[in-house]
Amino acid sequence: MTNRIDNGTQQVSDNGAEEEIYDIEPLEVPAAISVHDLADLMMTTPVEVIKEFMRTGHMYSINDVVQHDVVSVIAPAFGFEVLSQEAATRPGSIVLSMDEEDPSQLVARPPVVTILGHVDHGKTTLLDTIRKSNVVSGEAGGITQHIGAYQVKSNGHVITFLDTPGHAAFTAMRARGAQVTDIAILVVAADDGIMPQTEEAIDHVKAAGVPIVVAINKVDRPDADTERVKRQLAEHDLLIEEWGGNVISASVSALTGEGVPELLESIIIVSEVEELKANPHALAKGVVVEARRDKSRGTETTMLVQNGTLKVGDNLVIGTLRGRIRAMFTDRGEAIESAGPSQPVVILGMTGLPEAGHIFQVVADEREARQVVESRQRQADMQKSSGPTLEDVHTRIESGEIKGLNLIVKTDVQGSVEAIKGALNNLNTDRTRVNLVHAASGSITESDILLAVASQAIVIGFNSTPEQAAQAFANQEGVEIRHYSIIYNLLDDVELALTGLLEPVYQDVVEGRATVRAIFKVGRRQEVAGFYVNEGRFARDSKVHVLRGREQLYVGTLTSLKHFKDDVREVATGLEGGLMVDGFNSFEEGDTLEAHRSVRVS
Ligand code: GDP
Repeated sequence: MTNRIDNGTQQVSDNGAEEEIYDIEPLEVPAAISVHDLADLMMTTPVEVIKEFMRTGHMYSINDVVQHDVVSVIAPAFGFEVLSQEAATRPGSIVLSMDEEDPSQLVARPPVVTILGHVDHGKTTLLDTIRKSNVVSGEAGGITQHIGAYQVKSNGHVITFLDTPGHAAFTAMRARGAQVTDIAILVVAADDGIMPQTEEAIDHVKAAGVPIVVAINKVDRPDADTERVKRQLAEHDLLIEEWGGNVISASVSALTGEGVPELLESIIIVSEVEELKANPHALAKGVVVEARRDKSRGTETTMLVQNGTLKVGDNLVIGTLRGRIRAMFTDRGEAIESAGPSQPVVILGMTGLPEAGHIFQVVADEREARQVVESRQRQADMQKSSGPTLEDVHTRIESGEIKGLNLIVKTDVQGSVEAIKGALNNLNTDRTRVNLVHAASGSITESDILLAVASQAIVIGFNSTPEQAAQAFANQEGVEIRHYSIIYNLLDDVELALTGLLEPVYQDVVEGRATVRAIFKVGRRQEVAGFYVNEGRFARDSKVHVLRGREQLYVGTLTSLKHFKDDVREVATGLEGGLMVDGFNSFEEGDTLEAHRSVRVS
């Protein structure tokens, strides 16, 4: 078992079985390396490495020497991406770090900016105004299609804007592992002030650790009150420069364009402080901004190059998709041959439809693309991502996988937010930390779940329930949602979680009853019971108890659940179906079937 820690997102299994790895880290490998040394390099055991080689059809023993290109095939299974030898530079990990690039290769790159803020505060208008008045080539007015990102030029400096405003899109990228934004512009309408979505946006940006430039918008309106906005910002720990803080703000009117040049200037100043750099000589790597299918052109993928230079003809891999760039266009639809860091481009040539937020990465040739994809597919089959739970958070903190307990708290009323904030703060000790990523009143939304995925957080509903879509999304992403209505219970559980003492409590509940009406033989031994559901439901994953009179004959899992001829997920009250119970083949007409489920009660 390995214990590599990367960006706090790795799952460390405690049984020595396959572990789940989500982040891909760059790995420098010599032209030839022994299996033994390779295992050391990837912080795993030689046996695991040999097993992975076997899966890819290579037989090696511990002292065999393997070539660079063979290593690149199996490295993704261990969470690494082998750097190509020619580039001899690190193309950067998913959260693009230039720390390990050869400094002599690095050049300044334009900042990538996202606009966030409350609805109707002017995000879209601001994006449009900036775009119209600052076209890179200087020829304004050309018909520009919306491709999800664009570049503008201001005083000789290029700035890249992501054209999907709002924190949901911002965090969706992060939830998929991509840190794209260098600078966030927080738009606050001067007539309206800080609103709930502004607060949410602030928390999302803070969780990402991205610098904020505040655009106080709509200053043309007679009821604009910029001083009030500045006060409210201070209350949210965003102290602007003129008040002695370090947050740059600009007063603008997205409608008239007033103040917009100063806003762009502020962005450039912040980007210079950030010293944003990239290596244009590396193999290109970056992020998918959006993708769509065009009837005649096939898949059009908008991508943002984060490092390296992307060229027509390059072979690339995105998740488990691959492709070769047939053609490439700028945000203005001009065909180009190559694109450097921070440049958004539309490419043709991907097989399948890539997802926004996925990382793209150029590989040496088609063969390597195929191999990486195959290996990732195998890996994906084995993985099921899940975030921390209150039960395992202690283990994850101890193993160093996460730094503390990240919580997102949603409450019914604003008053509870403050009470919970204060009480949770008191739980912090030298060794354990509770970090409130976001706390607000209202129901639990999809955006909260996204934030939980991106920050490895647990969601607490204090007299607040998830919206339906949010619950489904949480289930899919393995995000834990806990419900409380008494603050002491919440605090007790958090305290127990931090000390590693919290055990889940399960209770067996009956969720359906049915009567066996007929028995069918399948093959020689197996039996299907035809049944009628009297109450509740039978689901695929129900545990079935078979009862004859008062006697319980058997308890087992379902191996088949059908309604007529179709395999179904559940059969509900008043319906008939057929089922098979693993290991039980002596049904009798009139037997009672109960569907049981183990439900966690605390
Ligand atoms: P978004 O929801 O944040 O994208 O907001 P929009 O850009 O759609 O703007 C919402 C409304 O505010 C629209 O009717 C805009 O015309 C208006 N608006 C945006 N910026 C300004 C501004 O600077 N001044 C005034 N007076 N109205 C603005």
